[in-house]
Amino acid sequence: MSRRVPFFHHDIGAPELKKIEEVFAGPILTTGETVREFESQFANYLGVNHALGVTSCTGAMHMSLLAMDIGPGDEVITTPMTFIATATAIIESGATPVFVDVEPETGNIDAKRIEEAVTAKTRAILPVHLYGLMCDMKAIRAIADKHGLKIIEDAAHCVEGSRDGIKPGMVSETACFSFYATKNLTCGEGGAVVTNDAGLAEKLRLLRLHGMSKTAADRHKDGYSHWDMVSMGWKYNMDNIHAAILLPQLDRIDGATKRREYLADKYESLLNDIEGVRFPASCERTVHARHLFTIWVDSAIRDSVIANLKSNGVEVMVNYRAIHPLSYFAETLKYKAGDFPVAEKIGAETISIPFYPSMPDEDIDAVANLLKTALQAQKTGLHG
Ligand SMILES: *Cc1c(COP(=O)(O)O)cnc(C)c1O
Repeated sequence: MSRRVPFFHHDIGAPELKKIEEVFAGPILTTGETVREFESQFANYLGVNHALGVTSCTGAMHMSLLAMDIGPGDEVITTPMTFIATATAIIESGATPVFVDVEPETGNIDAKRIEEAVTAKTRAILPVHLYGLMCDMKAIRAIADKHGLKIIEDAAHCVEGSRDGIKPGMVSETACFSFYATKNLTCGEGGAVVTNDAGLAEKLRLLRLHGMSKTAADRHKDGYSHWDMVSMGWKYNMDNIHAAILLPQLDRIDGATKRREYLADKYESLLNDIEGVRFPASCERTVHARHLFTIWVDSAIRDSVIANLKSNGVEVMVNYRAIHPLSYFAETLKYKAGDFPVAEKIGAETISIPFYPSMPDEDIDAVANLLKTALQAQKTGLHG
């Protein structure tokens, strides 16, 4: 008898629908008051000066690079243990991603290896807070300052996290967030960029909407008035409908974080008793945002464990296989398997197991039990 355990289910419903109704009752569907309300609450939650609602984290990272005049001929240091968008955003800006291997215990970029990768062309570091665990931002900021580099955080996994008292956006030039379908805060598709730098915020505001000096809502408010195009811009503005979906979730975020912590602790205590399963470590003085729960199993059996779990109704994913050997990066950036052994090892061992705040406690037990069975099956299989 197998049950189906979904990988993820969102937690949105009546409060979000009510907020959408309010937007529908007004005249502005695109970027307006609801977006501004979200931006102010999001900035407040993170303790940063400026937040801008955008359509994706990818767009937020692309614009951040453009706002700092990073482009063709420049290099940006990042991690190969991430979603491809981290690297493609760098390529969109015209700059070249330069990968640095990761820490074996966490999968985060290894701050100790960053300086080896700095060249005369390096302009920025783009760390990713993998699974919601903040990178060592104190160390990364010190390296950036020493070499005159900017920092753009890929905080797609980390709205709620902190380390050494540092939250995303606090010590970087910008931090970029995703509200994609499975992220901790979601509106289907969406994102945000935050900064403490008023000049950067102004540049980003222009970059996210065609370089126009006024939004549609501004133009509506004033009656008709002429606007100017003051710079090249893109089309990355968040609309009021998506902001309406995010606002009620922001009100509930502390409760969701507590639930994520509880479920992660439960998984960890059950998995500690299963031979052959390891999981990434946390760090001291850290609040983990607990976006994904990933485990590591021997790479020789990883894919059969996935197949076994799948056949027992457990939905799993792999976040991530190292991205540098993917065809496009290998061909265009000339990377190959073997270049970043730690990221490759983690990528070959990772399984992301079901994890979301409304996940029933029993499903955590069920996944742990099925995992135990799957590993035992492998053991007999390997030796039989
Ligand atoms: C989801 C994700 C992105 C991309 O976010 P979008 O909002 O879909 O552009 C970037 N980086 C990481 C680490 C992600 O998980």
